[in-house]
Amino acid sequence: MEMKEFGLNDIVEMKKGHPCGANAWKIIRMGADVRIKCEGCQHSVMLPRMEFNKKMKKILIKSETE
Ligand SMILES: [Zn+2]
Repeated sequence: MEMKEFGLNDIVEMKKGHPCGANAWKIIRMGADVRIKCEGCQHSVMLPRMEFNKKMKKILIKSETE
C-alpha cells in the first residue's frame, strides 16, 4: 500500500487536476475536512478527509514545518 502521509502546507497532486490547468494543491487546513488551495488560481476546495485520501495522488512537496 502506498504511503500517503500528508500534513499542513504540503503541496499535493490530485488524481484529477483543476480545470485551470494546474495540478498542485496546497493543504491549508487539516481536520475532519481538508481544505486545499489550487496553486494555479488560488481557488480553494474543502473535502472530507476520507475523500481527500481517495483523490490525492501524491505529495509533491513536503512541508518542512512539522
Ligand atoms: Zn486552479
